[in-house]
Amino acid sequence: MPIRFSTKCLNELFLPAYSKQGEMSLARHVFDKMPNPNDVSLTAMISGYIETGRYASAVNLFLQMIWNGSRPSDYTISKVLASCAANEALTIGRKIHTMVVKLGLSGTAIVAGSLLNMYSKSGDPNTASIVFERTAVKNVSTMNSMLWLHMKTGRPDLALALFEQMNERDLVSWNSMVSGYNQLGFGVESLKMFSRMLEETSLTPSKFTLSSSLSSCANLGELNLGKQVHCYIIRNGFEINGPIGSALIFVYSKSDAITMARKVSDQSGISNLNVIAFTALLDGYIKIGDTNSAREIFDSLSSHDVVSWTAMIAGYEQNGLNSFAIDLFRKMVKDGPMMNGYTLSAVLNVSATLASLAHGKQIHARGIRTGDLASSFLRNSLITMYSRAGSIDSAKRVFYSTNSNRDEVSWTSMITGLAQHGLGEETVELFEEMMKIGVRPTDITYVGVLSACSHAGFVEKGRFYYDMMRNVHGIEPTLCHYGCMIDLFGRNGLLQSAKDFLEEMPIEPDAVAWVSLLSSCRIFKNIELANYAAERLFRIEHSNSGAYLALTNAYAACGKFEDAAKVRKLMRSRHVKKEEGFSWIQVKDRNHVFRVDDEMHPQKDEIFKTMSIIWGEIKKMGFIPNVEAVLHDVDEEMKEHSLQRHSEKLAIAFGLISTPENTTLRIMKNLRVCDDCHSAIKFIAKLVDREIIVRDERRFHHFKGGSCSCNDFW
Ligand code: ZN
Ligand code: ZN
Repeated sequence: MPIRFSTKCLNELFLPAYSKQGEMSLARHVFDKMPNPNDVSLTAMISGYIETGRYASAVNLFLQMIWNGSRPSDYTISKVLASCAANEALTIGRKIHTMVVKLGLSGTAIVAGSLLNMYSKSGDPNTASIVFERTAVKNVSTMNSMLWLHMKTGRPDLALALFEQMNERDLVSWNSMVSGYNQLGFGVESLKMFSRMLEETSLTPSKFTLSSSLSSCANLGELNLGKQVHCYIIRNGFEINGPIGSALIFVYSKSDAITMARKVSDQSGISNLNVIAFTALLDGYIKIGDTNSAREIFDSLSSHDVVSWTAMIAGYEQNGLNSFAIDLFRKMVKDGPMMNGYTLSAVLNVSATLASLAHGKQIHARGIRTGDLASSFLRNSLITMYSRAGSIDSAKRVFYSTNSNRDEVSWTSMITGLAQHGLGEETVELFEEMMKIGVRPTDITYVGVLSACSHAGFVEKGRFYYDMMRNVHGIEPTLCHYGCMIDLFGRNGLLQSAKDFLEEMPIEPDAVAWVSLLSSCRIFKNIELANYAAERLFRIEHSNSGAYLALTNAYAACGKFEDAAKVRKLMRSRHVKKEEGFSWIQVKDRNHVFRVDDEMHPQKDEIFKTMSIIWGEIKKMGFIPNVEAVLHDVDEEMKEHSLQRHSEKLAIAFGLISTPENTTLRIMKNLRVCDDCHSAIKFIAKLVDREIIVRDERRFHHFKGGSCSCNDFW
């Protein structure tokens, strides 16, 4: 004889027990055995389905009950609608809505509240508004749903109007306003609402209210208000951890009150903070230049995302700690997350060293694998990275790998890269193609194309583009563009045009412009104009070592060695320090840096010996050392000796002995390559039959078979 349980007993004992444990098939078994399941059993069953995530079963059971003729209670209806909302099952939700209307059950506040909730969560604010308007009894809960919806859809005006109409407001209503305003960026309104809440009501703010208003303080840079909220928090015994701790750190870090921020973070425990607080703290330390503390914070993070990596790398870069930035970037390439365009541009700011080919290739390969290369930001940074690292071919491959999705930045990056590599014709061709397609050039694009014209000797084209920039594209020239034009005329022997252009400029020329004219005077041996340019230059610039060097070089080139010596003396008496020149080369993922006459390298003997052998060989090929450029008071042999020890020559000698034959050598130099090195490297490239790429302060030189891509103008 089977034991029969009453419905009441089943409801109270078995259903909840089974459904709580997620044993829904057992619960359903009990439910189906019930002689007359009532509303309580139905709701228990449906709640069980909802709690175990089986939304479809919940809805199906509900429909089945209605077809069987039972009238579900408000409570059941609201539970089912909630499950539709959680499942974003708007289609089924609408069906239930229709049914509920037919049954005449939609007018009550509890049902209306769940309908509102469902429609707003499913992204249908219009239907939500209609439901709200038609609701006979509007209570706090339905009003709150509507407030939240208005804020979420970016209509704080509607939210405020509704808020003012409300006769009764609870904590949720106030929180919707305070946090809604904050999230929409209306910090002042958010804080006003918060203080109104404290004045007009006896409600105690929740953690949510407090962290929202603190976040508004941070965004507004209101340190004092933030401190007041902090006092309130301490006075009222709130625990400082989680969202409140994070928000406080956000306030203090944003306002440079880093000691306070650190105090809070020690108090709440680093592991309790959110990523916004972390990044703010990190940024705060970086802003005041305390990279050690920033690194401490960074290292204490249990997991790093691309944002924290980028913040730390950029932080080192901003504080001039390039080698730290390099090390961390290497680590990121090896073990970190995939970098984004922001990381790359921070890295590119450090120096071209970082933008090494090996890294570029790794990032490139990962980007293809992970699909991140579809982002034009990453692709554009990669184009810049490759071209700065001296591999213009790789840059082109990235550029041409997609026909679609090229924005004006992609075009500009490619044009700038080609121009820096002295590929004048290609630059101009690409620029023309860009015009044809109808992509609008920016001021930076014009810098690229104008400098290409200058290097390639396209004087007329340069003039034409310059006019087009102003007249067709309405871009006002900046010092950069003027500089390009002075270069364009100067390099191509039109010294008078360059001088006229300089004098007619509507803005005061900077030192760079005069130095550029001086360099042209050196090339074309025009001593008179050099004197004039120097005189104008020293009027505006006394301590620019580049200016003195340009003048010295111009004098030396014209055979005026005594004048050159005078300039050097003047430089010393004015305490102008020559920036120390150094060159570096990457061999097997390591950078080797060389200074002039560098004795530090472990292989120095071998390097010096190699250079002196090469020296003899290239002299046999017709190379004439530029001994005149060396100080006068040493004998000829010593002069040649010191020329051999220039940093770029040492880097090349090292490259030759540490890489296999035919390997392209890539050298970076922080200053301009000197005349003697430029001439020597042309011979060396021919002698060893290798391509040697040197990137100096201004441009790339591709040395191959006895000549250089810059055609000796640089
Ligand atoms: Zn040199
Ligand atoms: Zn060159």
